[in-house]
Amino acid sequence: MSLSTSDAVPTGTSSPPALRVVIVGAGFGGIAAAIELRRHGISDITILEKAPELGGTWLLNSYPAAACDVPSHLYSFSFAQRRDWSRLCSHQPEILSYLRGVASAQGVADLVHASTTVTSCSWEEASCRWSVETDAGRTYTADALILATGQLNTPAYPRIEGLEDFAGHSFHSARWDHDYDLRGKRVAVVGSGASAVQFVPEVAEQAARLTVFQRTGNWFLPRRNRPYPAPIKQAIKRIPGVQAFRRGFMFQYCEAITVAIRHPKTMGRLLHARSAAFMRWQLKDPDLRKKAWPDYTFGCKRVLFSSAFLPALQRPNVELVAEAVARVVPEGVVSADGTLHEADCIIWATGFQASEFMFPMRIAGAGGRDLREAWSDGAHAHLGMTVPGFPSMFILYGPNTNTSGGSIIVYHEAQAAYVRQALQLMRGRRARAVDVRAEVEAASDREVQARFAGTAWTQCDSWYRDEQGRIVANWPGYMREYLEQTRELDPAEYRFVAEPQP
Ligand code: NAP
Repeated sequence: MSLSTSDAVPTGTSSPPALRVVIVGAGFGGIAAAIELRRHGISDITILEKAPELGGTWLLNSYPAAACDVPSHLYSFSFAQRRDWSRLCSHQPEILSYLRGVASAQGVADLVHASTTVTSCSWEEASCRWSVETDAGRTYTADALILATGQLNTPAYPRIEGLEDFAGHSFHSARWDHDYDLRGKRVAVVGSGASAVQFVPEVAEQAARLTVFQRTGNWFLPRRNRPYPAPIKQAIKRIPGVQAFRRGFMFQYCEAITVAIRHPKTMGRLLHARSAAFMRWQLKDPDLRKKAWPDYTFGCKRVLFSSAFLPALQRPNVELVAEAVARVVPEGVVSADGTLHEADCIIWATGFQASEFMFPMRIAGAGGRDLREAWSDGAHAHLGMTVPGFPSMFILYGPNTNTSGGSIIVYHEAQAAYVRQALQLMRGRRARAVDVRAEVEAASDREVQARFAGTAWTQCDSWYRDEQGRIVANWPGYMREYLEQTRELDPAEYRFVAEPQP
């Protein structure tokens, strides 16, 4: 089929054609996109969700004390602010209930086709549509495809010997087994990142013995996160402007963390000193302090906010093993120094396959080109959203859009509005597809990668990198910069695929 591409596809006089949109993923990103599109008159939307209901990470991560360490006044949609959060950083049930409530109120909850796993998405040249296949053998077609599966959806397990040999019970922190009673058990927790830090103090109270395996220490900042006292709650609820002030303040506070990460030798030193003082104060025992102490630049990995984790390590029934895990045997876990740590239950708090993005879904763009092939040198996309040769495909929370200091919801909203602009332009120009220009994407990728130079992110290994060591998860700058760069889509950066000439 002979399609021509053009910078200036003429705008017609009759009403523009309706667009059919498929969104994959019903977490914060997918819901944000659906709301934005519906608000702007794009209403033929289907949201395909693998899980039994909407919620994304907040449905699946239900481990004890699961919470968001970003304050809720910022970790919430700007257009759906709540004044009655129970505490600074809400727990998982409150966040999930918020997302469900917003989705229902905005009329997008019913667009979710749950328990539907997408296996492949293929661009059909002839029709200029995406063909989206599910594991149930159903095919959806769409003029535009929005992939909102996020970076943190597929649990990662360590590649170590003996995983299948363990005679006890085991599960991943992101798939918590609530039917398993930890009381009186010998529990091994492998991993000490943001998830473990939240549930370890809870598990420590239940388990007979808890062994925490930490491969790398973390930098901590204090966070008590108690329920708001009544006067504060009332002030937020009743005094005009208090909530908006809190949101604005938290935005700036998060940006300050990014300043520290971007400038490890100046602002980074200040926060490093704050963190070190807090950790020294919490870790009274010099041996434990030595074991828990991180050996990399402040901010290179995610800084953890907890006033409960380090004290939990000092309980008599808890042991911190500062060793990598060598292998699993039927009786328990063997650490790198050869010691066997017997366990009845292993909890894998080993994070997610973040650099895999939406894989193992197969995504074939123009000419049948596989996205894996396009990303063979590492994932990259213009503003984290558009990939040349994958027309009318948009990724939310895609490459280089994770934040170490801010709220991902801020990014989701910016992305949803950007995608909406792309679709409005496409529709307004009566184009059949919109495709980012290869040179634009390549230049923006170079710019993103160059901006990491000199930052703390480059100074250790972390889940922000892919196997080749390229930082593919994080945005290298501030939330405000991302907002500025995505606020207005520049049509010159895209090719609009024209209707075929009669
Ligand atoms: P994570 O931060 O990636 O932590 C994984 C942990 O497992 C690390 O301690 C890691 O050690 C360890 N690990 C990985 N492979 C291992 C191996 N083969 N042997 C021994 N240890 C191994 O995962 P997470 O804690 O689930 O958090 C992931 C992300 O989710 C966070 O960074 C954050 O973005 C998000 N999250 C956010 C919140 C929130 O409150 N906003 C809460 C939870 C999670 P190394 O450090 O040595 O790699």
